[in-house]
Amino acid sequence: MQPSPEDEQFRRRVRQWLEQGLTGRFAALRGAGGPGREEEAHAGRLAWNRHLAAAGWTCLSWPPEHGGRGATLAQQVIFHEEYARAGAPTRVGYLGEELVGPTLIAFGTPEQQRRFLPAIKAVDELWCQGYSEPGAGSDLAAVATAAELDGDEWVITGQKVWTSLAHVADWCFVLARTEPGSRRGAGLSYLLVPMRQRGVTVRPIRQLTGTAEFNEVFFDGARTGRDLVVGEAGDGWRVALATLSFERGVATLGQQIGFERELGALVALARETGTAADPVLRDKLARAWIGLEAMRAHALRTLAPDPDRAAAGPQAASTQAASTEASVLKLLWSRWRQELGELAMEVRGAPSMVARGEPYDLDDWQRLFLFSRADTIYGGSSEIQRNIIAERALGLPRQARP
Ligand SMILES: Cc1cc2nc3c(=O)[nH]c(=O)nc-3n(C[C@H](O)[C@H](O)[C@H](O)COP(=O)(O)OP(=O)(O)OC[C@H]3O[C@@H](n4cnc5c(N)ncnc54)[C@H](O)[C@@H]3O)c2cc1C
Repeated sequence: MQPSPEDEQFRRRVRQWLEQGLTGRFAALRGAGGPGREEEAHAGRLAWNRHLAAAGWTCLSWPPEHGGRGATLAQQVIFHEEYARAGAPTRVGYLGEELVGPTLIAFGTPEQQRRFLPAIKAVDELWCQGYSEPGAGSDLAAVATAAELDGDEWVITGQKVWTSLAHVADWCFVLARTEPGSRRGAGLSYLLVPMRQRGVTVRPIRQLTGTAEFNEVFFDGARTGRDLVVGEAGDGWRVALATLSFERGVATLGQQIGFERELGALVALARETGTAADPVLRDKLARAWIGLEAMRAHALRTLAPDPDRAAAGPQAASTQAASTEASVLKLLWSRWRQELGELAMEVRGAPSMVARGEPYDLDDWQRLFLFSRADTIYGGSSEIQRNIIAERALGLPRQARP
């Protein structure tokens, strides 16, 4: 697909702004943050994210009437590509910008939109996602956290788990059962719950990488306003699924530039260590390159002009792209990255088995190898993506549900 002159111009503007932006106090943030490294330079990345916001580089896909740029799908991808190419730090506000923001635009009341969207856009309030529970992960409809009305407030009791960034979040979007005795998707509500209150306890979970970026969250009589339910009370399942479709959407497309950089660094390391001469490793490096090309081709196909999508507008286009195509992409990139981590350990050989310092100081390759185990789990596990493809793309019979 040939980029249009407007898209090329947009790319130049983004690139130029990032080059100028990542100087001075922000220069040292290049490469900071990301999966397995969320603890890095949080305060600096928050300041950077606010700087981006002030210049209008957050919430690109949001419609202008909600403070966004109304960017096309191609422009959104260009932005993410240039962002990764510049090595800009991972944004701390992405859960607000990419998940709850679009959900509020689609389902929120005008009051909710006025209350929350500007603070998400300006990165004044950070969000976390309260879906998974000890007994409800892939089978999300098994959510047991309960909420009941007490006057003008919901009172929430239950436990969430694997809640990324809950330790820095101001708000959580919580899937809770508001109709006692209801089952599966019926009777669930999508509540917006303030995190900084008595009744909310956040307990970090330490990961293989030694870092702790996700948490257990305990709600013990936590409260939120009666009006802070998104969509109708009892209709939260529909809203929650919409949020997931945003999660599996366009934001993952730009990450391939980061993958390209990682593969380039690994090839350089193989040359340096002499392992590039090993025929088996050469073959694996070549396969990794081919895998990356396949992902790029798939992403470009996702972007190819489709008259139905174009007519439906940028927001609908994002949602559509986040269907089976997004499941294919998730499968491709998560497996590719795990294999890259495994290959990196082979290229480094025996030293890869030892931390470079006390107590548990891992280098970037070791972190990649360890953290990428999670890539095939979060955002919908590989098995679940295959179920989606089997049922929605191939029309195979639905899997028996509990
Ligand atoms: C790094 C990371 C960050 C996360 N952040 C968040 C967050 O911020 N908020 C949040 O709510 N959750 C978060 N999660 C949780 C994530 O969504 C769940 O881990 C995921 O949905 C899987 O659920 P589970 O862990 O309960 O595993 P389970 O659902 O118990 O699955 C266990 C295994 O069984 C397989 N399996 C399950 N059902 C089926 C099926 N029907 N067919 C075939 N195989 C199946 C799974 O693929 C998996 O291999 C995060 C997870 C990780 C790893």
